[in-house]
Amino acid sequence: MLGGPYDVGRMSPGYPERLARAREAASHGGLGALLVTPSAELVYLTGYSPLPLERLTCLVIRPEQHPILLVPELERPLAEDAGLGESAEIVSWDETDDPYAILAKITGGVERAGCSERMWARHLLRLQDALDGTRFSPASEVLGPIRAIKDSREIDLLKRSARYADETFARLIQTRLETRTERQVARQLAELLLETGNEEVAFTIVGSGPNSASPHHEPAGRELRTGDAVVMDFGGRTGGYCSDITRTVAIGKPSPKLREVYDVVQEAQDEAFRAVTPGVSAHEVDEAARRVIERAGLGDLFVHRTGHGIGLEEHEEPYIIQGNHEPLRPGMCFSIEPGVYIPGEFGVRIEDIVVVTQEGARRLNHAPRELQVVR
Ligand code: ZN
Ligand code: ZN
Repeated sequence: MLGGPYDVGRMSPGYPERLARAREAASHGGLGALLVTPSAELVYLTGYSPLPLERLTCLVIRPEQHPILLVPELERPLAEDAGLGESAEIVSWDETDDPYAILAKITGGVERAGCSERMWARHLLRLQDALDGTRFSPASEVLGPIRAIKDSREIDLLKRSARYADETFARLIQTRLETRTERQVARQLAELLLETGNEEVAFTIVGSGPNSASPHHEPAGRELRTGDAVVMDFGGRTGGYCSDITRTVAIGKPSPKLREVYDVVQEAQDEAFRAVTPGVSAHEVDEAARRVIERAGLGDLFVHRTGHGIGLEEHEEPYIIQGNHEPLRPGMCFSIEPGVYIPGEFGVRIEDIVVVTQEGARRLNHAPRELQVVR
């Protein structure tokens, strides 16, 4: 595939190819089986997205074998409708069967198996009994690096999702925020996320005044007033793919201190963005943002990592954090979201999603990053 601003040199692999790559990676990673229960991993590998429930549904991937999707009999029609086609054989268990014994029989006595982190403990505990002698490790060790590199279809969906988030912010700040409560603003963000085109609201964080100093503040009854900094962090889902944006606005004229801190955070965000290029490590991107904030004497107030990967999940690999020396590769998508939080006063965070291309980073969010002074 040539051309196109988001060309990262990879075609959409489709599910059979993803399954084949997972099988190869499992074998390479010394795993005798990958056991994938309902989760983003299952959606990524098959497109099948049943509710995670107490009845066991599990995709079994083994080296050199055809994948098997074990499902409860009553969900066989659902699994058949998912259009797995030839990519996995559906095997169902009856209401009175022991699905763990069936799974053990399919899997055989493997030394190590990878399982979904999202697998319910009730399933894992029964599997550990049924597969006595098998050691379990997270399937994400082999699936994470595969999922971290997005193909062009995934990047298109992330781009669309980001555009809806940008539009949500643009529409929100046209309305008057003063005297409304955080909860009311959060509700409007949720409505706008849907109106702009998302299929789902993922989350909304609104922290005003001193509450903005709590990075994951739960919107509550505090009324927004003149002089407040307001941190708004929100995201939706489109075609399964997430958005995640943060903007900090000032209600009325910002204090000199707010403006000063804002400028530092904005510069940190820019510096991290400029540091992104294939081969550079996640650690170095974090470092680029951290350096700016430390230089301003605010290092102790930047209390979280610089970013996280995004895709079918809000938080996934790669994590942009100190100590992650994995090199960035074209197709990786992640947030850059430095912040400074002054307890009792205010917080500032600016977050965009970016994609790594051969030429460096490209932003998927385009909402203004300069401090917006709103009513
Ligand atoms: Zn966020
Ligand atoms: Zn984020």
